Amino acid sequence: MGTPVLLLADEDRAVLEALTADLGRRFGIDYQIRAEGSAAAALTTLRQLAARSQPVALVVAGQPMTQMGGVDLLVAAHELHPAAKRVLLVGRGDYTAAHPAVRAMTLGQIDYHLFTPWQPAERWLYPPVSEFLASWSKTQEPSFVAIRIVGRQWEPRSHQLRDTLTRVAMPYRFYAHDSEAGHRILEEAGQDGSRLPVVVFRTGQVLVDPSHAELSEFLGARTRPEPATYDVAIVGAGPAGLAAAVSAASEGLRTLVVEPEVFGGQAGTSSLIRNYPGFPHGISGDDLAFRTFEQAWLFGTGFVFAQAVTGLTAHGSERLLRLSDGRQVAARAVILAPGVSWRRLRVPSLEALAGAGVFYGAAGSEARAMQGQQVFVVGAGNSAGQAALHLAEHAGSVTVLVRGDALGTTMSDYLVKKIHATPNISVRLRTEVIDGQGSGCLERLTLRDGRNGVTQTVAAAGLFVLIGGEPHTQWLRDTVRSDQHGYLLTGRDLLGAGGLPTGWPLARPPLFLETSLPGVFAAGDVRHRSIKRVASAVGEGAIAVQLVHEYLAEQAS
Ligand SMILES: Cc1cc2nc3c(=O)[nH]c(=O)nc-3n(C[C@H](O)[C@H](O)[C@H](O)COP(=O)(O)OP(=O)(O)OC[C@H]3O[C@@H](n4cnc5c(N)ncnc54)[C@H](O)[C@@H]3O)c2cc1C
Repeated sequence: MGTPVLLLADEDRAVLEALTADLGRRFGIDYQIRAEGSAAAALTTLRQLAARSQPVALVVAGQPMTQMGGVDLLVAAHELHPAAKRVLLVGRGDYTAAHPAVRAMTLGQIDYHLFTPWQPAERWLYPPVSEFLASWSKTQEPSFVAIRIVGRQWEPRSHQLRDTLTRVAMPYRFYAHDSEAGHRILEEAGQDGSRLPVVVFRTGQVLVDPSHAELSEFLGARTRPEPATYDVAIVGAGPAGLAAAVSAASEGLRTLVVEPEVFGGQAGTSSLIRNYPGFPHGISGDDLAFRTFEQAWLFGTGFVFAQAVTGLTAHGSERLLRLSDGRQVAARAVILAPGVSWRRLRVPSLEALAGAGVFYGAAGSEARAMQGQQVFVVGAGNSAGQAALHLAEHAGSVTVLVRGDALGTTMSDYLVKKIHATPNISVRLRTEVIDGQGSGCLERLTLRDGRNGVTQTVAAAGLFVLIGGEPHTQWLRDTVRSDQHGYLLTGRDLLGAGGLPTGWPLARPPLFLETSLPGVFAAGDVRHRSIKRVASAVGEGAIAVQLVHEYLAEQAS
């Protein structure tokens, strides 16, 4: 593998020379800058680079070019270098829907655009290009490794560790226990491999099959709350909980967030969120989560990880949360944002392979392990669409299995178009997974055609199940009211025909996001009739804090 390449193609000589010079000044040490004056010459260079396995990080193409349009060149570049980020160079000022960049983004033919002229480069060229390169580098083996894991590739615990470290952006490398490097690392760590996985930190510390709490503590996270009464305790660090924390802490409330896993919730598992305002090319869920987590932390939010909230009671004006280790947290108000988790397939043979080729959710940490493999995605929602597109960057083929007879009824149009435009993705409608087999990891799936009942067994290395959610509210059933599916009722939805809800102790009705227990609010996906989107969850988190203020002021008066 040679130095990664930034390939620039434009027929406008002046633009090409200026771009080469500007990018060379900033990125020339770490990347080789190659400039080509035509699409044909660029394609020849891309083929030569692919033949000698030299990585291409970025391809920038001018629009238009005569022999082949910039978009067509970027499509061809993707086939030769699937990891390379594709950038279309466009003139400023044309913000019409007919602009080629709009269609190309919709179809997933380009990843980004850059405006020309781009001066001052410090503002318009270097920051976006650094962002593109950061995104490309996430698809590569990290050059700096903070943690090495030795384990069985398809053991569920190995998968959980990889998933956690990916989501907290901790650079790690995984080694199979029976590989040469795996043996060497175990020996250096003084381990005989009888207990796996083994986690070796750069500092030399070693953890053998650590619990999530142990790992979290080693990564510097708190797993116990301080003995104090908080103004507001937030249950869950998904988008709703994190946004609530940013608002609450920034407005001077003493704030605690409790999260059993990793910050980010479902959004943290998404490879690319394209509809969150402010990120025109999209942002990965783990990036968005990490930024919001840091923002909440910098405003003074306290976080407790590796603990679930298992109970909620009212004690006078205090709301008491019981944590999974038995500790208790007291708060003057509570925001419930525990979201939803993936509905299971309930096929016993596939349950037995969970984490060993069968994954619930997008499992971004496993995408690279699917290199060249035959992979299946179950689901017809946006999350399934995104997972399919992300997996297609690595897998040989991706088949989306849909129980219904169309994709477009539940998936956004831009994702449907992108899926149809991606050559290694196919869609099988009216198809269900009914069985799976494999020794140690998934090897085969049995599919049933819903139209005629015919079954077929196919080779499969990965099954990613994204078929909607079930709310995390079992522990709340005796405390706050929910609908028949377990989603929490709030505000107007609590009002019966006779006005105030039964047992409601106050003269006023519940506030907009208030549950049937005064001072306890619900935000995000967990709420009855919520809109299952990141922006909506974030909005509700921020609104819930305003209602907490209202409630606390009422208590003080
Ligand atoms: C793969 C994927 C892709 C998606 N892509 C998009 C997209 O592109 N655009 C978009 O708008 N939306 C997208 N969504 C939907 C979006 O992610 C959700 O609507 C959003 O995450 C909901 O946020 P939330 O905070 O309400 O809940 P969640 O994200 O579900 O977070 C809830 C958090 O609470 C924690 N928790 C659960 N139980 C407890 C407990 N007892 N105690 C403490 N904490 C608890 C969970 O561990 C979790 O971290 C996607 C979802 C998925 C899964």
